[in-house]
Order: sequence, then structure tokens, then C-alpha cells
Amino acid sequence: MVTCEIAVIGGGISGLTFAHYVSLKGHQVKVFEKEKGGGCIHSYFIDQHYIDFGAHTLTNRYATVLEILERYKATDQVCKPLTLKFEGYGKKGFFRLFSKINCIELLRSAFTGFGTKKQNLSVRSFYSKILGTKNYLNFFHYLFQAILCQDPDHYPAGQLFRKRRRNRKYPKSFSLKKGLDQILDIIAGNPSISTEYYNITKITKEGELHVLWSGPAQVAQTKSICLACDPKSASLLLGDGWPALAGLLRRFPVVQVQSLLIGSNNAMTFSKRNKSLIGFDQPFYSAILYVIDDIKYWLFHFKENTMPVAERIRVIGEIFSAKQDEIFVVAARSALLPAISVECLALQSEIDMQTRDSAIFITGNYMNGLSVEDCCSRAKNEAERFHAAITQNPG
Ligand SMILES: Cc1cc2nc3c(=O)[nH]c(=O)nc-3n(C[C@H](O)[C@H](O)[C@H](O)COP(=O)(O)OP(=O)(O)OC[C@H]3O[C@@H](n4cnc5c(N)ncnc54)[C@H](O)[C@@H]3O)c2cc1C
Repeated sequence: MVTCEIAVIGGGISGLTFAHYVSLKGHQVKVFEKEKGGGCIHSYFIDQHYIDFGAHTLTNRYATVLEILERYKATDQVCKPLTLKFEGYGKKGFFRLFSKINCIELLRSAFTGFGTKKQNLSVRSFYSKILGTKNYLNFFHYLFQAILCQDPDHYPAGQLFRKRRRNRKYPKSFSLKKGLDQILDIIAGNPSISTEYYNITKITKEGELHVLWSGPAQVAQTKSICLACDPKSASLLLGDGWPALAGLLRRFPVVQVQSLLIGSNNAMTFSKRNKSLIGFDQPFYSAILYVIDDIKYWLFHFKENTMPVAERIRVIGEIFSAKQDEIFVVAARSALLPAISVECLALQSEIDMQTRDSAIFITGNYMNGLSVEDCCSRAKNEAERFHAAITQNPG
């Protein structure tokens, strides 16, 4: 069993960003991650080319992300992201996206909805006001659904498209030369951060210390803990010693995004389609087109449901009018996302209240928004809170 000052549970972008900022203040950090390559950022390689299964695009509004890249002198790894052009796919087949927008309603709503504040409004209420109810229901609902990989209706409008200043030294949107996994590798390479691969199953208190368990084994004892895993896992881990906090975490709903990378053994199968897809009343949110060495691949992000893979292949075959034996799964993966609603804003504040004077630090994509920058800025704030607590109470 190792002893450490601070243990981070979850080695995604939130946990590693927390570890990074804590290490800057001179602390040694241990990160516990249950699965190599787990989490919402995952770059899959076909020869030298990567396909990002989760987050694929960063923007020059992501100040914390850029601060990290600058710190590790890695800004030369910034590169153009995949150029994405979309078309819609619905019950009647393919269509041009903007054919779904009613321009008169759009203009009228822009006028009547002018000045509407996002605060405490859901995506549906806010965008229905400023874009028109029919436009929202017929078009923007599906667009935002594809962006958020979940039903966007109840998502807090204030946590989607946050206003942040652009850093014009960098492209408006960008990726990294080896895929977004690279930012995780860059941070994990910091000598003050070490990662151990354990599925942490329980945390108990022993006096001033916390003990981390993986099954029957005690793997670490630590003064402080940063929970950077999904809210369901965080709730289970805290269940014994911190029932009130665990109860709050349990109230965050989560959704699973099930992604399938599809190829074809017949060059003609995908030949007619040259744009990524947004699903309208389909079992998938979106399908991103990648062309690698002139071969087309589609990354389908399916909604959480019990549809077996064979049925998904049938759906995909129908889209491309292909025989089922012409298409095959290159890789499959699932990611867990919080399904945040306006009601969760109160939970986020309550969690902050409960942890304010404790040795528990909470970060993750359910505390401040889903985007990579939301995760990084939250993790940075929690790291600063940790450092302030240690400075005030060094024992
Ligand atoms: C399909 C998709 C596309 C996206 N596209 C974008 C995009 O283009 N731009 C953008 O900004 N954002 C995007 N996002 C959102 C963004 O990627 C995520 O919100 C963010 O990466 C979440 O990071 P995290 O560290 O909070 O959580 P995760 O990445 O989920 O990390 C949590 C980690 O905790 C580990 N863990 C869980 N339980 C335990 C345990 N008991 N013990 C040890 N380890 C544990 C998990 O294995 C995981 O690695 C996308 C997300 C998805 C799913």
C-alpha cells in the first residue's frame, strides 16, 4: 500500500488537470485509473492516422487547455481538426440541414427573444425563445443533441457555448497531432504525477487518513482525495463514510454513448456520401466521416439503448443501402456522460458547500459543463482550493 498526500481517482482530463495544477505547487500526486485508455478522450489509430472516439475538437477559447499545452511546451502539437460538413438523416432519408430552418420564424424570434438571458434556463427554453419553437423542435434540438450526445432539452443553456475570449495566437478550433489522447499523455509524463492502474471500489476513513480499496486490497492511504470519476462511481466510493455527499452525487443522471467505427469491404458502399451525418429521430446522435488513405470510415455515436450490435449494423446498412456483410465494425467503445439538467445546478452548488472545508475535492464533467475546457477550469479551481487548504493547515 502506498502513502500519498493527495490521491486522484480517475485519469481522464479532469483528474490529470487537477494533478497538473497541484504538481505546479510542488506536490507529488498519485492518480488511480481503472482502465488504460478509459474515459471520454480516446484516440484510435489506423496506421499513422487517428480517430478520436470521444472529444475531437478544442477551440482557442479553451484558455486552461492552452495554458497546459504552453506549460509543457507542446503548442507545436496543435493542428487543424477534421473538417466537418454535415447533412441530416431522418425517416425520409438524407437532406440538407438548413432545409429544416424556417427563416421567418428565425428572424421574428431573434427580434422578440433579443436580450433573453441564459441563466437558469434550459437549452430548450432559451433556444426556443431566440430561434423559435418550431425551429428548435425541427432542427436545433437534433443539432444540440449531436453536440452533447444526449437529449439537450433540459441541459442548462448557460453551460452550452460559454462566452470565453479567443486566444488568437491559435486556430479557432484545433486538434493535436497524435489525437487528443496526446494531452493526457503529456500531463501524465510529468514526473510529479504517477499513475497506478486500479479500479478503486471503496474509500474508508482511518483517523485523519483515507484508505483506498480495490476489491479486498488496500492500495493507498492518503490525506486528501480528488474524485475525478463519473458521479455514479464517485457516489459508490463515498457511500460508507460520506452518505450525504454520496446521496447528492447519486442524483446526477448519466447516459452511455455507444460508439461504433464502421468500415466496408466494398469501395462502392459509401461512395455516394461525403458528409458526416446528424440523426433526426434515429437511434444515433451523429456519424462522423473519416477518410483515411482514400478509404471511408464512419464513427457512429449511438444513443443508450439495448439495441444489439447486429441490429445497429442493420440500421447502418439501411442508411447506406448496403448489404450487411459489406460493412463491419472496426472498433467499438462506450463512454459515460452526465445527463445534466437545470435541476443539477443546485446539486453542483450543494456539493461545493459540503466539500468546502473538507479534504475531498470533486471535479469532472458533471460539475461545470461537459466540454474539455469546462473540465479543465473546474479541475484547476479545485487544485487551487487544495493548495490553499494545505497552506492553511500543513499538518
Ligand atoms: C462522443 C463524445 C464527443 C465529445 N466531443 C467533445 C469535443 O469535441 N470537445 C469537447 O470539448 N468535449 C467533447 N466531449 C466531452 C469531453 O470529452 C468529456 O466531458 C471530458 O473528456 C470528460 O473528462 P473527465 O475526466 O471529466 O471524465 P472521463 O473522461 O469520463 O474520465 C473519468 C475517468 O475515471 C475513471 N474511473 C471511473 N471510475 C473509477 C474508479 N472506480 N477507479 C479508478 N478510475 C475510475 C474512468 O475509467 C475514466 O478514465 C465529448 C464527449 C463524448 C463522449
